[in-house]
Amino acid sequence: MAEGRIIKALSGFYYVQSGGEVYQCRGRGVFRNRKITPLVGDFVSFDENEAGEGYIMDIKDRENELVRPPIANIDQVIIIASAVRPDFSPMLLDRFLVLIEAKEITPVIFVTKMDAVTEAEKREIEQYSKNYREIGYDVEMLSSKDSENLPVLDHYFDKKVTVFAGQSGVGKSSLLNALHPSLLLETGEISRSLGRGKHTTRHVELVEIKGGLVADTPGFSALDFNEVEADELADCFPEMRERKRLCKFRGCRHHKEPKCAVKQAVETGEIKSYRYEHYLQFLEEIQSRKPRY
Ligand code: GDP
Ligand code: ZN
Repeated sequence: MAEGRIIKALSGFYYVQSGGEVYQCRGRGVFRNRKITPLVGDFVSFDENEAGEGYIMDIKDRENELVRPPIANIDQVIIIASAVRPDFSPMLLDRFLVLIEAKEITPVIFVTKMDAVTEAEKREIEQYSKNYREIGYDVEMLSSKDSENLPVLDHYFDKKVTVFAGQSGVGKSSLLNALHPSLLLETGEISRSLGRGKHTTRHVELVEIKGGLVADTPGFSALDFNEVEADELADCFPEMRERKRLCKFRGCRHHKEPKCAVKQAVETGEIKSYRYEHYLQFLEEIQSRKPRY
């Protein structure tokens, strides 16, 4: 039996990459007594007949998986935030960061459209970049219009499976196209000139970019915290994660509790107050959601 990785799912077929070849395979209904559907990104075992058609026989346990886009075993999500148009939003960035942290996937931050900022905007973005680097995130500031500087990003992709995330219009498609010109993804400019919105449903495919695999469709459209528990929220903020064991009370939610190490760090400025405010806002959102049955 051969082994490989599903890189594309289309019309009931799974395309499995194995040893430099791609095999068109069908799935079975049941794998090791589990009824699961193969996902792009899955590591699988498959059998091949003489005609070159394969059958997926088994799916390896997944490290993680996303629903939108449906992909398994992701190494990192690159959050695309634009410096301008739409304006840089720390709130939205923190939302993405928490959702990715909750899935135990590594987030990376790319800020696009740096060619279009004023001096003051540039200073502001640089300050934010510094903040996020201090808490351990990789941050890159770039412009997809300036392809000469894009090679500094190559190492992010090497040997990794990457999904892009970010609100509409921040430049996800433009960056993917700049990194991989033959992709020809529709960007906002093209769909506007054709007088229609961007297509939203398309198949998912992992394409080879700079030695790694990248989902050719931007992901992560759901931005609610339905799958994050109140007690897990502080773990999704690296600067809180490392301090919360110093709180007086176990199970401290770093809100109204006394002798809270997180709140102390906010007061001394070691934790940025805007990050803490976002934490409180997300906590409120989680605590006020209706119980799920
Ligand atoms: P998406 O919705 O995130 O995929 O965003 P698009 O790639 O469609 O880009 C939205 C708009 O921003 C388009 O008009 C792009 O030409 C423009 N854009 C994307 N990246 C950049 C950039 O780095 N600099 C500038 N000035 N414009 C950009
Ligand atoms: Zn606390």
